[in-house]
Amino acid sequence: METVPIAPDLLPADGRFGSGPSKVRPAQADMVSALGRTVLGTSHRQAPVRSLVGRVREGIAALLEVPDGYEVILGNGGAVAFWDAAAFCLVRERAQHAAFGEFGQKFAASTDGAPFLAPSDIRAAPPGELARCAPAEGVDVYAYPHNETSTGVVSPVSRVDGDGDGDGDGALTVVDATSIAGAQRVDLTQTDVYYFAPQKVLASDGGLWLAVVSPAALERIAEVTASRWVPEFLNLAPAVENSRKNQTLNTPAVATLVMLAEQLDWLNERGGLAWASDRSASSADILYGWAQRREWAKPFVADPAHRSPVVGTVDLAESVDAAAVSAQLRQNGIVDTEPYRKLGRNQLRVGMYPAVDPEDVRALTECVDYLVERLA
Ligand SMILES: *Cc1c(COP(=O)(O)O)cnc(C)c1O
Repeated sequence: METVPIAPDLLPADGRFGSGPSKVRPAQADMVSALGRTVLGTSHRQAPVRSLVGRVREGIAALLEVPDGYEVILGNGGAVAFWDAAAFCLVRERAQHAAFGEFGQKFAASTDGAPFLAPSDIRAAPPGELARCAPAEGVDVYAYPHNETSTGVVSPVSRVDGDGDGDGDGALTVVDATSIAGAQRVDLTQTDVYYFAPQKVLASDGGLWLAVVSPAALERIAEVTASRWVPEFLNLAPAVENSRKNQTLNTPAVATLVMLAEQLDWLNERGGLAWASDRSASSADILYGWAQRREWAKPFVADPAHRSPVVGTVDLAESVDAAAVSAQLRQNGIVDTEPYRKLGRNQLRVGMYPAVDPEDVRALTECVDYLVERLA
């Protein structure tokens, strides 16, 4: 492939548009370097690392405006590990899942395959569309993604009321916010578990899961883990205990915590969730508006209300080879605009987390215009 060079003045200041892992701001990496001779390489059972974990927990509580009585817990293994922990420790008998993409489906597969649970009630929708949970007999966990990263579909966040009598029916609402927590306003009283990982909105590295849990979820964890065998690594009961002490069950990646704490401070200093949401929404307006103005592009998600403010998916016409466009962008230092691998569409996918400058999204669209003209 011959590179089509893009003039430097057209390029974004930072060319990282991944949907996860995502752009890490240089100041976060500088902080890792600054703490490289003190906190890095020291015990996670001692004050310096524990205070870092405390800073992360407080930063999340501030950013997400965590309601009274809710707690921020964390552990190793990322969001995927949390799915299995949830199957073991949150579901009493039966889960219902709204599955409208790879991530939602994978969590559904985890509870559906658990031999100690009833088969899951899975409400699916085709890629690019939204599926929602609905009250059903015998379901004690309702689970859905807030943002389906594989397709760029965003879901409203609201509690699913088991029997519709308004008391919540004791069922838990468990929301996978891995790729949107911290970038769209949310009322966490509508959820019992709102979980995520640091390598998307929060611009850090992978390997951790974090969750905001309600009093009802804490009760459920205690109840379920007392009555069934649970592998220690996936057991949320010790995770709650360790989190209260600003620790994790086993050794965390300290550099990940440093970058995470830095990003939380950065977001909170600028106006928290409102500021972060507006910034991602501005990027999304630029991207989707551009796609709608081009003959050869259109937003993949047909319903504007379901278009993600953080993961933009844009289909290109057959006459334009999206893979060639992404490859040329990559040659020019603009990376990770490829679509989710299993979706198999002629598409660009753009991470628009708050770390990304909306002006860089604008520059990206100009670079795509330039390439499409040259590649024709
Ligand atoms: C990335 C992602 C996951 C997986 O996160 P890991 O930290 O890699 O395990 C799960 N759910 C959603 C919605 C995601 O975007």
